[in-house]
Amino acid sequence: MKTRLAPTYSVVVPAFNEQEVIAETYKRLTKVMTDMAEPYEIIFVNDGSRDNTAQLIAEFCSSDSSVRLINFSRNFGHMAAISAGMEHSRGLAIFVIDADLQDPPELFPKLAEKWREGYHVAYGKRTKRKGESIFKRLSARFFYRFIRSMTSVDLPPDTGEFRLIDRKVCDAINKLPEKSRYIRGLVSWVGFKQVAVEYVREERFAGVTKYPLRKMISFAMDAITSFSHKPLKLATLVGFLISVLSFVYMLYVFYQVFFTDQTITGWASTVAIILFTQGIVLMLLGLMGEYIGRIYTELQNRPLYIVQEIIEKEENEQADDRNNKPTK
Ligand code: UDP
Ligand code: MG
Repeated sequence: MKTRLAPTYSVVVPAFNEQEVIAETYKRLTKVMTDMAEPYEIIFVNDGSRDNTAQLIAEFCSSDSSVRLINFSRNFGHMAAISAGMEHSRGLAIFVIDADLQDPPELFPKLAEKWREGYHVAYGKRTKRKGESIFKRLSARFFYRFIRSMTSVDLPPDTGEFRLIDRKVCDAINKLPEKSRYIRGLVSWVGFKQVAVEYVREERFAGVTKYPLRKMISFAMDAITSFSHKPLKLATLVGFLISVLSFVYMLYVFYQVFFTDQTITGWASTVAIILFTQGIVLMLLGLMGEYIGRIYTELQNRPLYIVQEIIEKEENEQADDRNNKPTK
């Protein structure tokens, strides 16, 4: 195996069906990184794209030795892709950025400045989100505030995966064994010196969101269950409240039976109450199932992702050959 000198910066870019933007992303990243005038590497993680994303990135690799492509064997998800990029990174500081250019690479020098000042994490905080539907904006707003109220970790609101992290933080996160990875939560959880850098979130450069509602809900569940047990306590609380209310109601029913001659009517209300409480019970059971499912996934201990291949340009090929030749 050849060894390369560790670059100053690594850029981790997860990409899933991003053929419309990937060339532009590569161009802008390369521009910013060359302007920063330090050795760098760009790691594209192709998360099982079904379009030409992989071929396009492989082309960049063939002409540019700073680019590496990690091809997954199938789609493992955004968080797995970022984890893979972080694990394969060699830089002293690691930038994480989405492939769709919603987060401006031009902010990198500002993030790096904070790093040079001694911060271990400089995360982008969105002050505005352009070109996203009202539903997405509202749900995102609700999501971040809800998660904050549900968890004990200090998760900064309006913060995505766009950030710079120091090697130490990256190593700390790489060592965490959990499989349901809510990375922005883990970054907060590991601590270190962190600082926010504000920016405006742009519209997607091209293509469509890869986070449909279904993925957003499962993402939210991951976030909550990874960092909070509060929902489990909800069951106890709701159960307790219902018991108290029913007990009081029962006393009232006994009173009616023994001390008044009112006839007790209304099976409809009885059915309504039964259905209502059954609904709550099922919901809480499902909630517990979410946690148990996650325990099961952790126990199975399957890898977070499977790498099909890694593509990069052989650097100093000739030099390597020379070194490998037996010396007489
Ligand atoms: N992504 C991925 N795997 C997935 C879904 C998304 O690697 O299963 C990548 C995607 O290519 C993009 C980033 O994760 O670089 C964020 O996705 P997207 O922009 O679609 O999400 P949004 O910004 O709409 O929340
Ligand atoms: Mg996006």
